[in-house]
Amino acid sequence: ALTAGIVGLPNVGKSTLFNAITQAGAEAANYPFATIDPNVGIVEVPDERLNKLTELVKPKKTVPTTFEFTDIAGIVKGASKGEGLGNQFLSHIRQVDAICHVVRCFEDQNITHVAGKVDPIEDIDVINLELILADLETVNKRYQRVEKLARQKDKDAVAEFQVLAKLKEGLEEEKPARVLEFTEEQEKIVKGLHLLTYKPILYVANVGEEEVSNPEENPNVQKVKEYAANENAEVIVICAKIEEEIAELDAEEKEMFLQELGIRESGLDQLIRASYHLLGLATYFTAGEQEVRAWTFKQGMKAPQAAGIIHSDFERGFIRAETVSYEDLVAAGSMTRARELGKVRLEGKDYIVQDGDVMHFRFNV
Ligand code: GDP
Repeated sequence: ALTAGIVGLPNVGKSTLFNAITQAGAEAANYPFATIDPNVGIVEVPDERLNKLTELVKPKKTVPTTFEFTDIAGIVKGASKGEGLGNQFLSHIRQVDAICHVVRCFEDQNITHVAGKVDPIEDIDVINLELILADLETVNKRYQRVEKLARQKDKDAVAEFQVLAKLKEGLEEEKPARVLEFTEEQEKIVKGLHLLTYKPILYVANVGEEEVSNPEENPNVQKVKEYAANENAEVIVICAKIEEEIAELDAEEKEMFLQELGIRESGLDQLIRASYHLLGLATYFTAGEQEVRAWTFKQGMKAPQAAGIIHSDFERGFIRAETVSYEDLVAAGSMTRARELGKVRLEGKDYIVQDGDVMHFRFNV
């Protein structure tokens, strides 16, 4: 399963956030086969469409979809006391598919900042520089090897060498690989290098309790937003401490609490949805009388693969997928009506599943 790793300097609020994640966590009963790793938090993806489908179909049960956050700090704790962030830290970032970088934007005299003052851009740079240096090492090694082949006019080697030269130049200027521009062909080569600074990233600006309603007034948040804009990265503003409290409330209490705070959606829910998209994940639904359920698939997946997420038999014996888009189904008001209106398509094995598809798979056993 794809996972988003939570990183950040010490004392910025990572553990507090991760606590909120595990507290809010998915109902274990729905996911009996989920891994029980203390550094992995499984979250349910908030999705209005699921509520709407439940109203429409009135099933016995509704099950949201989930995905995982990994607490990298938790894994690495105590693993390395050397200079820099240590190899363990880097190797764990290598294993995640996207990065949520938590940055301290709250002022609190009682909580020490590792650098002595709250400066989110400096904090971001500390970690990003470490990742850039690790990538530079990867690129340099490869560069030396490919250089020889490129001189012998090996076509693939020439193409890769161009990419490596560009990466080398950029990384040496302390730019993360994700801000460099490549053609589509070159992007494939870059992906193959598994660079740390090529992973999709978002920044989590952790603000103080009294600032959640008005984060725009926090100058640190502004700085993070400007920084992120340069990378085309998203910023999610949260107060980790409040999220920890919210995570203990039931749905109704949560709604009231958010209203009191004057916010529409909790920071954690925003973070969950943003991370989900950052990972390139999307949702299709199954909607029967027994169960209405959301399923996570990787964007670009074809129907049989997507069916295989439910059960491998569905993929192996795939025949067709009865498919209606969420919008068409809701507009029609019922599956029967959607069928009458010709909105239900029979899709074959080459169909690329779309976010919001409501699907019913037909398969051979
Ligand atoms: P980590 O080292 O990044 O995991 O940081 P922690 O989550 O342990 O937080 C460090 C300290 O900052 C703890 O005492 C937290 O209670 C506190 N903290 C975390 N988030 C907030 C916040 O939003 N506001 C305030 N005032 N304190 C926070």
